[in-house]
Amino acid sequence: MMSQVMAFELIQPTEKKIYTTNNYAFIFGKAKSAESLTINGHHIYTAPNGAFAHTVELHEGENRVVLKTLYGVTLYKYYKTTPAKQDIQAEDFEKTKAYVNHDNTPLRSSPVDGGLNRIGHLFGGTHIIVNGSMGTFYRVLLSKDKEAWIAKSDVTLTDEEFCPAEFINMDSKRYKNAIIQSIAFSKKLPYTIEDSEKEIILRIYNPELSDESVYNLNIPKPEKYAYKVSLDEGEYTLKVRKLPEKKNEITVIIDAGHGGSEKGAIGCLGDEEKNINLQIALQASEILKKHNINVILTRECDGNLSLKDRIKIAEENDADIFVSIHLNSIGDVPMNIHKTRGTSVYYFNKNSEKLAKIMEKEFVHQAGTNNDGVKTASFAVIRPTNYNGILVEAAYMTNPHDSMLYTDKKWIKKAAKGIAEGIIKFINL
Ligand SMILES: [Zn+2]
Repeated sequence: MMSQVMAFELIQPTEKKIYTTNNYAFIFGKAKSAESLTINGHHIYTAPNGAFAHTVELHEGENRVVLKTLYGVTLYKYYKTTPAKQDIQAEDFEKTKAYVNHDNTPLRSSPVDGGLNRIGHLFGGTHIIVNGSMGTFYRVLLSKDKEAWIAKSDVTLTDEEFCPAEFINMDSKRYKNAIIQSIAFSKKLPYTIEDSEKEIILRIYNPELSDESVYNLNIPKPEKYAYKVSLDEGEYTLKVRKLPEKKNEITVIIDAGHGGSEKGAIGCLGDEEKNINLQIALQASEILKKHNINVILTRECDGNLSLKDRIKIAEENDADIFVSIHLNSIGDVPMNIHKTRGTSVYYFNKNSEKLAKIMEKEFVHQAGTNNDGVKTASFAVIRPTNYNGILVEAAYMTNPHDSMLYTDKKWIKKAAKGIAEGIIKFINL
């Protein structure tokens, strides 16, 4: 048998027969750079290090994808099926009592798990009234003109007798850098939190008493702010604080994404995202320390760390700023290797938008990456409101051009500077 010369190493696909429901197949890996690689007859750009990526549109049934180099031809077969569409209908029913199973249960503005539709996080044991359902969600009655949605798995329906909550008292305190308002009831009630133009509004609903029973706490918000809702023995507290203005009073969490068995995205050359995240994080923290900024790394080596633990580190250290470092990848979607590249910065809460915008600008400037935009997404580590949290996707692991950057030590240094400068510019604002 003739010895086989490897003409390319694919990261995806890993099999020659692939069964999928996707409309596109994303193919990426490393080819010998001198090779002229074609996929289904199209010449494919290969970076000097051999990295390539390409998307093929799939039709129903069998799709033949032919990778050809000077060394030979390899055939991949994709079998695409289209899943039957489920028609999900909304359903109304009589007012039914229920209680929330555990803390931090998202209350949503629409019956969808994802996106920016979280309007509150209910505490375990909160009594609610549901009056309809859609798919995997119940519709929650908050007041006459306010409804919300909650996952069915997060609540237990009951025919127990609930009594309306009794209002106990209200309080307000003003400190140098914070305002705290509280309101106490005889039991836990559903609430929503809103970051409006000028203030943070906590609304607490008591629908068992009447469908017009709503209590509001409003606190004006400063320029750079963080806030938190907490509950202790029936007393809801809303705290709105001003972020410290001096560098040496600020606490910054630098979070290297993934780690340990969780590798993150795999690049065209087989590089693992977790390692690149860590290198950038370590170097960025060194720069920040030189500026007398209190920096805490969520991980300093290659170990497993849950998302909950990362948030816990931030909370235990009273973090003001949280920056999570990642590199991006794409799935089976159409891509343009000249456009689907570079840096994007994500935020979830409005109070983190300013930091996200400054970071995007500063990072792109320092690291010389494509500006892939400031975006919103519901990532767990950037959901808390008691710090300004952003997630930086520094470059695309799956982009051949970007693979020339993240495999270069000099670029890692520039990326670290970009992260540090973004934070410093925000603090000095
Ligand atoms: Zn990641």
